[in-house]
Amino acid sequence: MSETIPFGRPMLDDAAFEGVRRVLESGQLVHGKVTEEFERAFAARMDVAEAIAVSSCSSGLFLIIFAKGIGEGSRVAVPAMTHVATAHSVEMLGGEPVFIDVDPETGCMDPARLAEVEGPLDAIIPVHYLGLPADMDAIHAVAEDKGAFVMEDCALAPDATYDGRKAGGLALAGSFSFYPVKHMTSIEGGMVTTDDKGLATAIRKRRAFGYNRMLGDRARPGLYDVDALGFNFRMSEVEAAVGLSQLARLDEFQKSRAANDAILRGALATLPDLTVFPNSYGKAQSCHYCLNAVLPKDGSVSREAVVDVLKARGIGSSVHYPGPVPLFTYYTQKYGYRDGQFPVAEWLAAQTISLPVGPHLGDDGAERVAEAFISAYTVVAG
Ligand SMILES: *Cc1c(COP(=O)(O)O)cnc(C)c1O
Repeated sequence: MSETIPFGRPMLDDAAFEGVRRVLESGQLVHGKVTEEFERAFAARMDVAEAIAVSSCSSGLFLIIFAKGIGEGSRVAVPAMTHVATAHSVEMLGGEPVFIDVDPETGCMDPARLAEVEGPLDAIIPVHYLGLPADMDAIHAVAEDKGAFVMEDCALAPDATYDGRKAGGLALAGSFSFYPVKHMTSIEGGMVTTDDKGLATAIRKRRAFGYNRMLGDRARPGLYDVDALGFNFRMSEVEAAVGLSQLARLDEFQKSRAANDAILRGALATLPDLTVFPNSYGKAQSCHYCLNAVLPKDGSVSREAVVDVLKARGIGSSVHYPGPVPLFTYYTQKYGYRDGQFPVAEWLAAQTISLPVGPHLGDDGAERVAEAFISAYTVVAG
């Protein structure tokens, strides 16, 4: 059998290894110039004034809302269909996530459902679902109405655009992920982006224990006052070196993703009763994290069976996400959510399959994934 294709695989090259070696040899493992260089390069790439390297997208989300004073008594709207990190960041600070069902056409927070929220909202965190931007104009309109600020979960959204502008610069701040199988990796890691200099300073401080003297005062290392609560959410120099090497290849990665997406999309268009999520709508243009194929609502095609056939043919897949977040045990036990309250998210959680489109597919990978999926679907659907 030809080589297997996993859902995702980091594409590390000589530059990554050399960058890591240089850092290790330098002895400067944190607080160094490589992280600063990565921040500057990422800010330039995403067209924002400031980028702050952090230990993960989750810690970035946490830092943004922490710096904004979200806490006990705060209410923050998050989509019901997302990575649990979006909601957990609010919950960790003692705020309450207000779950919004998603749009069946895009998988992103449905602005119509958002507008129906009763009572105040302090913040809104749209997620660009699998790289497809949320309907930002409509979300900003509701936010204005409610007096809430908007921030983006950009974990899967590098280079996604809305109205020609890049994700990460579409609201007060955004948080990106460099987890190994995302668009680019720094091993673990994330980046907060913002055009708000004051917020950037507040986040930098809270990324490192609330120190107020250390930054910009290298002449007196070890001397500092602490004037805010903060924690250790830093990125290491090793991670930044890997991240920089990946950023240099992001254009190449994105071209490959777009090409693979187009091949898969074309091939799957022939399958009856399969919903393939669009890669653009209105002002939104996706950056192709994966191809999101959703099986018929009536459950007539078993996802487990399709995944098993794919696996037998050496094709990896994933599920985004395996449950609506409010229906995970933690949230049902705490807030009493019930089946049926988030019908679109529930449909996606039960029937969606994510197919790989990453650069690791190589030359004929997209054709192989398409062929395997079509035969799996055809066999299982009968
Ligand atoms: C992966 C992901 C996260 C978490 O990213 P980490 O870097 O692992 O913290 C958050 N939100 C979304 C939408 C994600 O896909």
